[in-house]
Amino acid sequence: MNKLYLVIPCYNEEEVLPETTKRLKEKMGTLMKKKKIAKDSKVIFVNDGSKDRTWELITQYHQTDSLFGGINLSRNRGHQNALLAGLMTVYEDCDMVISMDADLQDDINVIDQFVEAYEQGHDVVYGVRSSRKTDTFFKKNTALMFYRFMKLMGVDIVYNHADYRLMSKRAIAALSEFKEVNLFLRGLVPLVGYSHTTVEYERSERFAGESKYPLKKMLNFAFDGITSFSVKPIRLITIAGFIVFVISILMLLYSLIRHIMGDTIVGWTSVMTSVWLLGGFQILSIGIVGEYVGKIYLESKERPRFIIESYLK
Ligand code: UDP
Ligand code: MG
Repeated sequence: MNKLYLVIPCYNEEEVLPETTKRLKEKMGTLMKKKKIAKDSKVIFVNDGSKDRTWELITQYHQTDSLFGGINLSRNRGHQNALLAGLMTVYEDCDMVISMDADLQDDINVIDQFVEAYEQGHDVVYGVRSSRKTDTFFKKNTALMFYRFMKLMGVDIVYNHADYRLMSKRAIAALSEFKEVNLFLRGLVPLVGYSHTTVEYERSERFAGESKYPLKKMLNFAFDGITSFSVKPIRLITIAGFIVFVISILMLLYSLIRHIMGDTIVGWTSVMTSVWLLGGFQILSIGIVGEYVGKIYLESKERPRFIIESYLK
């Protein structure tokens, strides 16, 4: 039977933990009874430097029930880093890991389908929201814009998938080869490859406490997502520079012709020529320097160059 670990990042979640542990205990119990998962499967909470009683509660749950475990981070590092810390700490002890949020907004009843997909041989199962009914107008539209923009910038992410997903041990092992510090897991996991599938679910509202993702963190998250995956913005500057440069040459010819024809005010030709030529040359140069910076940037991530799917010997 397969051993399942749930990894749950928690930041100031004292209000939701009592209910979350209750629901998860029930769910894990049923799964064990149905012989879907091994008896020594676990729920691991990652305390992301909470300022409230979160870690105290986690310690208590761990003492009274062996189902629960905890990882305490030295300080607040943000959701993505907390999640990664959890995945990297536990994956060698189990067969598969499901990551989810502490507020259980993601329907835990689809865990069954996650595990079935794993049994069918999928290494990554993405939880995908079937609707955004419970979201505010603002969140729905900003999220939509985010996905569109990411696609435009050439980042391959799964539409309407947050970080509710199952990953097999070998998928996480592959993920551990990605050495970057700017973490954007939703963009990285698809790069791992391997067989994957999606499972749809309804996302409900937070049952207690408030969102730990204020607008500022959301914007940071989106900005990191784009800049840590794509050098397209640099490419855009190069293209703009090239276009301006071409225009500048046309302008040069145009002003020379006007000059020769003699119907210009004194000084016009030289001003026009230098403004366009210098402007075009500058943007193009910035773009070219940017292209090299982009290369250095991508190299400095030291991402794995390949991940082997199978090896017959
Ligand atoms: N979280 C975290 N560190 C942070 C912010 C959030 O570990 O700095 C956790 C939080 O405890 C929760 C998950 O990330 O388990 C998602 O946060 P939240 O539910 O507030 O986000 P929302 O659902 O509003 O997008
Ligand atoms: Mg939430």
